Amino acid sequence: MAEPVITLRHFFEQARAGRLTGIRCGRCGELTMPPREFCASCHERAWEPVELSGDGRIASFTIIRVAPARHAADAPYAVAVVALKEGVSVMGRIVDIPLEQLRMGLPVRFRPIVRNGETAIGFGTV
Ligand SMILES: [Zn+2]
Repeated sequence: MAEPVITLRHFFEQARAGRLTGIRCGRCGELTMPPREFCASCHERAWEPVELSGDGRIASFTIIRVAPARHAADAPYAVAVVALKEGVSVMGRIVDIPLEQLRMGLPVRFRPIVRNGETAIGFGTV
């Protein structure tokens, strides 16, 4: 199997540096989030990295009250699907917005979460 142009490792290295990276199909222009082997629209494999703004709005969210052991100390916390202004969605953890203030459509901005040598996708206040 061919190696995707943008690997998850590359995606998270970029995220750690504060850059959220999408991929655009060089044939049909479809924008999506990596990793993706083939374009869902035209089935081509011609991805080009695109730096995204990181600005979006909460499309949905859930509050995690019972977390996996390694995140248990953080509970409760929220995980949201964020619709980025470029038209793609990405899931991330809400970092600095009180849970009771969360609502659909709330503007948020990408905030990398770097902890214990790991990088995760976060979103916080604009
Ligand atoms: Zn395509």
